[in-house]
Amino acid sequence: MKKGFVYLVGAGPGDPGLITVKGKECVSLADVVIYDYLAGEQILDFAREDAELIYAGKIGGAHNHEQWQINDLLVEKALSGKVVTRLKGGDPFIFGRGGEECEALKTAGIGFEIVPGVTAAIGAAAYAGIPLTHRNVTTSVAFVTGHEHPDKDESEIDWQRLSLGSGTIVFYMGVKNLPQITSSLLEHGRAPDTPVALVRWGTRPEQQVLEGTLSDIAEKARKAAFKAPAITIVGEVVKLRETLRWFDSKPLFAKTVLVTRSENQAGEFSAMLAAKGARVLECPTITLLPPESWGAVDAEIERLASFDWVIFTSANGVNFFFERLAAKGLDARAFADCRICVVGAKTAAHLASHGIKADLMPSDYKAEGVVAEFAKLDITGLKFLIPQVDKARDVIPKGLAAMGGSVITPLTYRNSTPDNIPAKVLQALEEKRVDCVTFTSSSTVDNFAAMLGENRMLHFLEGVKVAAIGPITAKSCRDIGLNVDIEPEKYTLEEMTEEIVKYFTI
Ligand code: SAH
Repeated sequence: MKKGFVYLVGAGPGDPGLITVKGKECVSLADVVIYDYLAGEQILDFAREDAELIYAGKIGGAHNHEQWQINDLLVEKALSGKVVTRLKGGDPFIFGRGGEECEALKTAGIGFEIVPGVTAAIGAAAYAGIPLTHRNVTTSVAFVTGHEHPDKDESEIDWQRLSLGSGTIVFYMGVKNLPQITSSLLEHGRAPDTPVALVRWGTRPEQQVLEGTLSDIAEKARKAAFKAPAITIVGEVVKLRETLRWFDSKPLFAKTVLVTRSENQAGEFSAMLAAKGARVLECPTITLLPPESWGAVDAEIERLASFDWVIFTSANGVNFFFERLAAKGLDARAFADCRICVVGAKTAAHLASHGIKADLMPSDYKAEGVVAEFAKLDITGLKFLIPQVDKARDVIPKGLAAMGGSVITPLTYRNSTPDNIPAKVLQALEEKRVDCVTFTSSSTVDNFAAMLGENRMLHFLEGVKVAAIGPITAKSCRDIGLNVDIEPEKYTLEEMTEEIVKYFTI
């Protein structure tokens, strides 16, 4: 049988953006991904749908798997002909036991490659705003384990040389032993006022930094009940954080924001919030489905040229309509004889991606704004096609009909409610860890309430700030008993993000 192959990949310190391009490729091509506690879970999203994902982590020293078991697993999977990606937090060769895993592979005659990663010291220091070396401050840096093998009688660390010989010292796995580490450094001559920073869950939205000096940091950490996983940075460079801090000073840092948009739409909004430092939890409340039958849409596509205007009220409407056009072997040229109106810049952008520039985009994104815009024209006798979602408001069709237009509204896609709330979201709600919930349409409000049950939802959202994208969504919130705290003037995701930032920074 063909032998498999193993990629030993550094996943970086947690921010999924910090994996290397090559590392990401290895995750996406693997038959089997064997991952650790510290390898950020989001990186697993890059894996193939059908890849086998195996957790081989150790949590806080409690070994789910012993190292020899992991070695055996790697060998076994590779021998059965699989391409295995062994994903390890940070860099595989820095306190990662990657060396031992490679030795096992070598012995078994299995081919491997090593893809380095951003190690915790480098990642966490960068995200804490602490340059590990600095021309004016220090010329060297040492990476040291703060947790030597438990069977060793005596430390192998040469404390004398380490204390005075290295400018910056970074300890991995040192939180528990912090009192011994600091006293060893002090005993061997390092100055008591040497600055020290502990960085926990560096590069992640949960990052915590505790600052002190060699003489007081152990006591501060004890008082704050500071826990692993954290690195300990010792040296004058720590002072630079005061001026260089950039990550944990973002306006929404440490705030948890719930995004309730449909799965295919959430990404963009989540990214905007994350860029402001928020920890984003996605709870899709809408699944988009095609209509049960395409009959109505197909009939209008046949006579598209007879319409004077086509009005797209959402990006989803554009996407579903064009999907159907394509299925029938047609493209944007089918609209050659119609003028096109879009509601909202997003809709315009989606239309543009199909090669069509909208003729009209009312500046007021509400349905009423669209009617007002057409009221400026004479539309008597004109034919309008409005691809609709089910349960859409009828403001536009009614308004246009009242002005003498003839309007057809074929059902182009449907909203349905997913069955389950993701476990992560439920847990955050139960533990009162959510700071803000965002609603970007009335259906997100109604579906969220339906998925949780109204009373349970009201209970979960007690004390949680509510952001609604516009007046209609806000009304839906109020109708079910929610107070709206944040409501942008312009109904766009950008404005909504800005308003949330403003709300939490005042
Ligand atoms: N191979 C890993 C280190 C594994 S040892 C690497 O190169 O980063 C585990 C230790 O790494 C933890 O106890 C902690 O000291 C450190 N560590 C890993 N991820 C971290 C993070 N995001 N923030 C702070 N420390 C981290």
